[in-house]
Amino acid sequence: MTAVLQARGLGKKYGKRWALSDCTLDVPAGRVVGLVGPNGAGKTTLLSLAAGQLTPTEGEITVVGGRPANGREQLAKVGFVAQDTPTYARLTIAEHLRLGARLNPRWDDELARDRIARLGLDLRQRAGRLSGGQRAQLALTLGLAKRPELLILDEPVAALDPLARREFLQGLMEAVAEHSFSVILSSHLVSDLERVCDHLVVLAASRVQVAGDVDDLIASHHRLSGPRRDA
Ligand code: ATP
Repeated sequence: MTAVLQARGLGKKYGKRWALSDCTLDVPAGRVVGLVGPNGAGKTTLLSLAAGQLTPTEGEITVVGGRPANGREQLAKVGFVAQDTPTYARLTIAEHLRLGARLNPRWDDELARDRIARLGLDLRQRAGRLSGGQRAQLALTLGLAKRPELLILDEPVAALDPLARREFLQGLMEAVAEHSFSVILSSHLVSDLERVCDHLVVLAASRVQVAGDVDDLIASHHRLSGPRRDA
């Protein structure tokens, strides 16, 4: 198995408190991987370490074969759509695309423009005037146009209504089918992830509880919970 993310005894401490502890993981490449866990489980911490936005307190992490944030080339391989305000309210969609093109060496402007047109959005529109679902789609488009090897999305659908959630996840699946890249996305809810992910990592109380292919996890859950009464 080629791993897109490897962690060995990875930990992050804020003050005296471990936000992530003793995390050892191999996340397979070329897959859509879900990171699920309740509030405060350590999801954002793990994803921020992977994106090179935080440095570990202990242990090691490699992402797409290198240390996160180790130079411009390595950073360009990883797209990170953060949980809070990944777009700028006062900038138009066109200005977001221009900024993306300036900052990202692998920027695919055609992909970005095609996707904006398909979404029925107007390039002159300011991000602040978009609905929550449209802003999430803009953030996804900006992440995709970086043409990363790994796209990391931190709770991208948490604030969206059910229809916008479905549309966002559908758009993500279409993009994965069209361009080949690995994805890690997080959510509080397994129900958001089970339809789109083929591998799951369950995080709780700062630790990885279980990780594996969705089908295997469901099969072992059924084994552990015994035969169904209606079987
Ligand atoms: P949520 O689903 O609420 O976003 P999460 O699973 O993403 O939660 P983290 O944001 O990684 O969890 O937080 C893990 C723990 O670390 C929590 O207890 C949180 O309060 C704490 N924490 C996170 N960031 C900081 C920080 N900058 N300073 C101090 N503590 C922090």
